[in-house]
Amino acid sequence: MSTGYLSISLPNIRANFRALNTACQGRAAAVVKADAYGLGSKQVAAALAREGAKTFFVAAAEEARPIRAALGPDLEICVFSGHMEGDTDLIRDLNLIPMINSVDQLIRHAEALPQHPFGIQLDTGMNRLGMEMSEWQAVRDLVLRMGPRLIMSHLACADDPDHPMNEKQLHEFRAMTDGLSVPRSLAATGGILLGPDYHFDLTRPGIGLYGGLPFASAKPVVTLDIPVIQIREVDTGESVGYSNTWMAPTPRRIATIAAGYADGIIRAMGPKTRVFAGDVGCPIVGRISMDLIGVDVTLVKSDPKSVQLLNGTQGVDTLAEAAGTIGYEVLTSLGHRYQRNYGLR
Ligand SMILES: *Cc1c(COP(=O)(O)O)cnc(C)c1O
Repeated sequence: MSTGYLSISLPNIRANFRALNTACQGRAAAVVKADAYGLGSKQVAAALAREGAKTFFVAAAEEARPIRAALGPDLEICVFSGHMEGDTDLIRDLNLIPMINSVDQLIRHAEALPQHPFGIQLDTGMNRLGMEMSEWQAVRDLVLRMGPRLIMSHLACADDPDHPMNEKQLHEFRAMTDGLSVPRSLAATGGILLGPDYHFDLTRPGIGLYGGLPFASAKPVVTLDIPVIQIREVDTGESVGYSNTWMAPTPRRIATIAAGYADGIIRAMGPKTRVFAGDVGCPIVGRISMDLIGVDVTLVKSDPKSVQLLNGTQGVDTLAEAAGTIGYEVLTSLGHRYQRNYGLR
């Protein structure tokens, strides 16, 4: 077999949910947008529902299809992009809750699905999605009469606890919503870690469920095993891979493994990244190709059949650091050629 093997630990995703939910005043929802950060929204949502999650968030209405099928009719699925043109049938048929972002969306929703549940998204300074103070003031009384299920906003800098933006947005959110008898939500993973002032009635963790920073005590969720196709000896001065970027300083054993940038292994991470053969870290040598990577297995005692790029020691954030990006991007880039397994590892 020549494809990588991606193990996704549903028990650890459930444990991460449990830990975050317990840390919250109020309760935690589960953010399962982008196919649950690339890990499989159907499997992840079903596992989290068994753990007691009652509310799920997606970015776009279409993403809710497999999730609704996995969850059955009752649990809440909310849509961050709100009620977009063309979404009405999906919102009705899948019983979704759009997080209305603008007066335009509010009108669209009220006209198309007058009795259908919805939530409101407010912009408290990120300038990405949601109504700003003046817009909100203009429609607030009307909205309250329509009975929104939730009022939410999103923090721009919650991964940095010392950033003054956090308190500024908290203040703005309170100014826009204090005294209203509607459940409120402000915090994603980073916001939960900022403490109870940020929790309100519902939190919206995503990355923390999947083992990523800023939830430093998260249990690791993904293990990626990549088969070795061939092992060769190279002499001092021989090169490996495209453009001869690496040259053997002494005689080395080089394994060629069956994955590459087409599987989401970001080319830029190559020079700083190792794979593991058991406990032995083996540096990537030469350029990462589309489907193949060279690794130096000189220090490994017996020829490995496969190596690990992701495991309990080396997580998505380590790879992200080596590639100059964030764990979110490493996760959501994980390839579709891998065999996927949702076992206990
Ligand atoms: C993606 C997203 C979340 C989840 O954020 P994490 O940092 O992954 O916990 C929560 N709320 C909104 C609005 C989002 O876009």
